[in-house]
Amino acid sequence: MRAFQIFLDGTHQATAGDKDLDELSIWLSITPKNEEPHLIVQGRKLDADTLYEFQWVDLPVGVGSVISLKHVESENIDQPSQTLETKIESRCSFCGKTEEEVGELKRGKYAIAKICGTCLQLLAAS
Ligand SMILES: [Zn+2]
Repeated sequence: MRAFQIFLDGTHQATAGDKDLDELSIWLSITPKNEEPHLIVQGRKLDADTLYEFQWVDLPVGVGSVISLKHVESENIDQPSQTLETKIESRCSFCGKTEEEVGELKRGKYAIAKICGTCLQLLAAS
């Protein structure tokens, strides 16, 4: 399966990936308050009404650090260091009404937000 090998200053940090992921992201986040940037490697999977978020790496990156990534085909994926499971409510993300009140809610393939028919019509008309 497709995966990323992540190295920080030449040291292998993780091999992240999964055949079932909807998205695998690697980014550097800079927060305020003069904190060091963090290298973050996360994956997401949306399964019916549950969002699964996996994290492989969350490391501070000092000035002069070298980050390298290698795109690989590998069956040896590391277990995520953190897994978060979030239940997605059956409510319209715009008006807050439940599916029982407004009927079927629509959602994009990988989207968390849901929308009812009324809000969709209002959006289309604006
Ligand atoms: Zn709505």
